[in-house]
Amino acid sequence: MVSLPLQGHLNPMLNLGKRLLSKGVHVTLATTEDGYHRMKQNFHNSEVQFEFFSDGLSLDFDRSKVDELINSLNVQDVIADHGLPCAMFWIQASALYSIYYRYYKNIDSFPNLEDPNEKVNLPSLPVFDVRDLPSLMLPSSPPLYGEGMNYIFQAMDKLKWILGTSFYEIEEEIVKSMDSLKPIYPIGPSVSPFLLGEKKTNEFRADLWDSEDSCIEWLDSKPFSSVIYISFGSITVLSQEQMNNFASALKNSNKSFLWVIRSHGSKNSNASDLPLEFLEETKGRGLIVKWAPQEKVLMHPSVACFISHCGWNSTIETLVTGVPVICYPDWSDQRTNAMLIENVFKNGVNLKCDENRVASTEEIERCIREVMEGPSALKIKKRATEIKELARKSLQEGGTSHQNLDKFINDFTVTTTV
Ligand code: UDP
Repeated sequence: MVSLPLQGHLNPMLNLGKRLLSKGVHVTLATTEDGYHRMKQNFHNSEVQFEFFSDGLSLDFDRSKVDELINSLNVQDVIADHGLPCAMFWIQASALYSIYYRYYKNIDSFPNLEDPNEKVNLPSLPVFDVRDLPSLMLPSSPPLYGEGMNYIFQAMDKLKWILGTSFYEIEEEIVKSMDSLKPIYPIGPSVSPFLLGEKKTNEFRADLWDSEDSCIEWLDSKPFSSVIYISFGSITVLSQEQMNNFASALKNSNKSFLWVIRSHGSKNSNASDLPLEFLEETKGRGLIVKWAPQEKVLMHPSVACFISHCGWNSTIETLVTGVPVICYPDWSDQRTNAMLIENVFKNGVNLKCDENRVASTEEIERCIREVMEGPSALKIKKRATEIKELARKSLQEGGTSHQNLDKFINDFTVTTTV
């Protein structure tokens, strides 16, 4: 297995690696030496064997420059050149796979992507706005992103299997719609065993930061289904205006909240922080941490809902834990995930933003009420719980993901021994 040295790539790969190991397959996961140096402490106590290779840049090179990262995606070609059968592990929703495939392989017609209000009409998806397409496809993104995605999808012909981190039941029609093109076999939800109810919590994970586990004790002190959890993942930074609107809405809601703010209290001038009076006024019912043990938080009975940027890892974590979502997506697949959450999965609501992508205080308050109070909250929670059950079933013996993984192992064993 080969992975980019990113947390959101390594963790699903590791989960897959462990499942393969448990089926008697020998697994080696290769990532870059740079990844090893950044996450060194995490690579011990893993049953999966690791190899590290140079990405051709010195260790002190600034890898925030995405150009270099995108240039290192050419793995499909290397493998094809060696005549090895290759599978891709698609680490986003199957819907994203379908959208990209249909676009880059010219399968369906798309509207003018310059206009965010134009409607996109694709098989097996509700009609949605251009603004909810993956941002890497849109003219507002640097061309390099689109070129990178185009490269991946043109090279798709060289791949023998596409496995996905999602699961069939949640995207049934979408998965079926790809059967006659280039099928995707979902084998997820690809999450740690802890999220599936296993007690062992010292599972190996590649984590970028140490989490503040004391927030779990704080959650223990809160009533059942009473706390709003807020996190925008490892990359997104909110504008000061948006930060203030979330703060005002939380203050006005009178609910308890656990908020992850990576930059909280930092001197970095790019980092937005909270008004001091907000901290005073919400003392006792609000806790701010720099990084949370998100899996434990989502599994905690006190958590009622999650205000999320809808990164796919966070999204799938909410699907398996049955936690309703309030979506404030940023870039890449996040807007599409938010659209899926509101209109396909139906386990949450999407904050409506103005043309500058700002969600007002009133809009945030409206969404908090919708997922936490009255009949709408009951309906969303019921659906979220249903999805949680479906997710677990798909991984069990005889479940769709279980079958897909067995089929893959069987296929590649035959392919590589012939
Ligand atoms: N996460 C965490 N603690 C936090 C925030 C996030 O452990 O305080 C984890 C979360 O459980 C998820 C990952 O970081 O597995 C974030 O991945 P996602 O795809 O949601 O977002 P990204 O960081 O890639 O934007």
